Amino acid sequence: MAQLSPQLKQATPVVATHGEGVYLYDESGNRHLDFTAGIGVTGTGHCHPKVVEAAQAQVGKLIHGQYTTIMHKPLQELTERLSGVLPAGLDSLFFSNSGSEAAEAALRLARQATGRPNIVVFQGGFHGRTVAAASLTTSGTKFRAGFSPLMSGVVVSPFPNPAHYRHYGWDVEQATDFALRELDLVLQTQSNPADTAAFLVEPVLGEGGYIPGNERFFAGLRERADKHGILLIIDEVQTGFGRTGKFWGQEHFGVTPDIQMFAKGIASGFPISGIAASEEVMSKAWPGSQGGTYGANAVACAAALATLEVIEEENLVANAAERGQQLKSGLQAIGEKYSQVQNVHGLGLMVSVEFSDADGEPDGATSAAVHKAAAENGLLLLTNGMYGQNVRFIPALVVSEEQVDDALAIWEKTLASVL
Ligand code: PLP
Repeated sequence: MAQLSPQLKQATPVVATHGEGVYLYDESGNRHLDFTAGIGVTGTGHCHPKVVEAAQAQVGKLIHGQYTTIMHKPLQELTERLSGVLPAGLDSLFFSNSGSEAAEAALRLARQATGRPNIVVFQGGFHGRTVAAASLTTSGTKFRAGFSPLMSGVVVSPFPNPAHYRHYGWDVEQATDFALRELDLVLQTQSNPADTAAFLVEPVLGEGGYIPGNERFFAGLRERADKHGILLIIDEVQTGFGRTGKFWGQEHFGVTPDIQMFAKGIASGFPISGIAASEEVMSKAWPGSQGGTYGANAVACAAALATLEVIEEENLVANAAERGQQLKSGLQAIGEKYSQVQNVHGLGLMVSVEFSDADGEPDGATSAAVHKAAAENGLLLLTNGMYGQNVRFIPALVVSEEQVDDALAIWEKTLASVL
């Protein structure tokens, strides 16, 4: 009998039969509080009635209309609708199916638009699993090991992550000074500006541990990019569509990219992703160099339109900010009782609890034990961080105050039993 490959071993023990809002149900009728949201995808909750209705209606009209063959109505409408939420000037859109493909598209475009080979990425970043996207990823060796040679032309510079420099006693300001100085060194010694097509960065390190960037760091990137004609690519795959308590993660830091990637939260679980850039930049990609059979599938576009409506109608961006604050302060209060809880990181509804051992080193074994016990107690979570040392909370943006309280109660009970 066929079975899933060992790499697809599930992080939680649930065999889901259906989902509703922030809950998943299994065959035995158990209800699980899902604070994973399909890794930050089902922002409107599982099976939001409006999304279901829109997708069902579209299936009966047109399922697929390949976008370099025909234009279809949902794609036309989605393109218009996205221009209302994207940063001004990023009004030329390319669509694909996954975050990794968006990373590939951004990379191709940056190289084509500048005629330069190198991409500077930031330590702890995650951009996907295709060979090119993995080459741009530095949030853990598991994403890169064993299938070298990776793509050349990738240069790594520090992200202002104080957790990395804890043993030096550095705070965010010191980590930011260091990151910007190192970037200048990188531009002098490893990737001359004339060879550098782009900086590629996440607003909040996602797989890297839910470590937010900051205003000064992003201003420094923007300034250096402008000075040297380097394109700034911001990967909003995990942070977009309200996840951080603002529509885009970049809004926290007052920065606008030249190329923006998006995916996950756009369509409540239907696979669709893309990049946005100015027409001037996008027109440097020649016909045929960006495309694909399935990009901007009609049902996914219809689901995305309904998702955007729900985000607006239900004020989900504001809810993410409020519930995120509630979650983070609740986790901080609980964490204060335990020496193993090193820190609570995050922004909006991307929150992680970092575990460390007696020497202050990242402790993936403890986070794995806590994560497993939480699932047994009915709270589904994920881990992240370069060493798997964090347990992360990424519920749907529709999560209510009571549901956050329920999750905190399960978390408290779980820590009391494991630590
Ligand atoms: N970029 C970021 C910031 C992500 O978080 C992810 C996935 O987690 C990706 C890119 C890759 O997306 P996908 O898994 O859809 O290829």
